[in-house]
Amino acid sequence: MNQQLTIALSKGRIFEQSLPLLAAAGVQPQEDPETSRKLILDTNRPEVKLVIIRASDVPTYVQYGAADIGIAGKDVLLEHGGDGLYEPLDLRIARCRMMVAGMPEAVRQRPGRLRIATKYVRCAERYFATQGKQVEIIKLYGSMELAPLVGLSDLIVDLVESGNTLKANGLVPLEHICDISSRLIVNKASWKMKHEWVMQLINDIRTAVEADS
Ligand code: ATP
Ligand code: MG
Repeated sequence: MNQQLTIALSKGRIFEQSLPLLAAAGVQPQEDPETSRKLILDTNRPEVKLVIIRASDVPTYVQYGAADIGIAGKDVLLEHGGDGLYEPLDLRIARCRMMVAGMPEAVRQRPGRLRIATKYVRCAERYFATQGKQVEIIKLYGSMELAPLVGLSDLIVDLVESGNTLKANGLVPLEHICDISSRLIVNKASWKMKHEWVMQLINDIRTAVEADS
């Protein structure tokens, strides 16, 4: 087969937790993205390549067909919106919860709308709208826990796994928005054009996911 298949994923927890699932589909990277500076990794299969990109860029690469397949957190997919891609499989890896968090005693001096600091603007907007709350969203790119401590916001919307990061900064989880895990995503054109190949990969990975739980 001279067709290529490109899989997009981010390094760190998603790469590490995806390795056994990719291995179950017969795909083994030839290099470790933590030590290699390469952005395109060869695998044991000459026709399969991995591209290593920022977690939040994965849906974009798949949407535009620069990668046929990707692995991305549900948080990232909710923010992206899902245009141009299918999401056929919950991989049940990189699990955490999206939560509203803040100081234990919600003491508020500031008049007017609640201020919410977050990287997840769309999710936060949608969540507070369903709660019937008028809020002001402040977009941040990281370290959301700092915002309430220095008076930038009243609350944050962030991902919580153990709660230790919140606790270390004197914050508490307040409201559960949704559960998060990573999903396999597929470009819509690749789904049609490389259907057999994509289905084989999904089935192999699904079997491994189900055996794992
Ligand atoms: P970047 O480091 O590029 O800003 P990021 O922080 O989202 O992006 P990672 O920390 O690797 O990158 O997170 C990748 C995905 O893993 C997230 O999109 C989310 O779905 C999940 N995730 C994030 N934090 C946690 C956590 N504490 N526990 C479990 N899963 C998490
Ligand atoms: Mg991170």
